[in-house]
Amino acid sequence: MAYRAVLFDIGDTLWHSAEAPPAAEFRRIASERAREFLANAGLTHPDPSLVARVAWDALESAMKQARATDRVEPDYAAVAKAALLSVGVSLSARQAGDLMETIYVSGEDGGKAAYPDARPTLEALRNRGFRLAIVTNRAFGGDRFRDDLRAAGLDVGWDATAVSIEVGFLKPHPEIFRSALRALEISAAEAVMVGNSLAEDIAGAQALGIDAAWKRSAPDAEGVRPDFVFEDVGELLDWEPLRKAKS
Ligand SMILES: [Mg+2]
Repeated sequence: MAYRAVLFDIGDTLWHSAEAPPAAEFRRIASERAREFLANAGLTHPDPSLVARVAWDALESAMKQARATDRVEPDYAAVAKAALLSVGVSLSARQAGDLMETIYVSGEDGGKAAYPDARPTLEALRNRGFRLAIVTNRAFGGDRFRDDLRAAGLDVGWDATAVSIEVGFLKPHPEIFRSALRALEISAAEAVMVGNSLAEDIAGAQALGIDAAWKRSAPDAEGVRPDFVFEDVGELLDWEPLRKAKS
């Protein structure tokens, strides 16, 4: 146990939806944005909220299916495009992708906030010589995700960022972990994964020989044994193997 890098899950590990508006408010915002999107695209539909809901439900169902099967991240634009045809909306794949970006309510709008000890912990780990990486399952990446990190105060100069929609694979698929290791140019034994999901973060990392620290949450898998268990992310700083990075 001598690590050079710490890989972090984001959702419910470093940030959470503390102030999330109720589902009805999400739907209202998405519907408003869909109405505007359709108008800008020169399309009309009697029920923009139905358009938003059909597109979003299609994304969620494809995501659920992928998580339960091959963990290959779906092409959500294609998924939405196909689903929208059923309600009489014909979009190009590009438009469908833009629509999804438009109706996705994220970051501060979605009530995302970092845990109070998240940023101080990341900074302390960096000061101890650890390199830091993100390994996250997210259907939206790119600038939007980086902006959301900044808004939450989690823009700590990450050394690598493996986002499922950018890598093409969802945790616990080994490829998303490998992509982080490759970017950091380290071996599995030199990294530790930190996350709240036994199935995705802990089992996924351990299958590759990456040790894993679990932020205790409702267990989503049986028979998984984390290398360290904590309640608050700041407790990582007291874990012996994270006192000093391997040089
Ligand atoms: Mg999580």
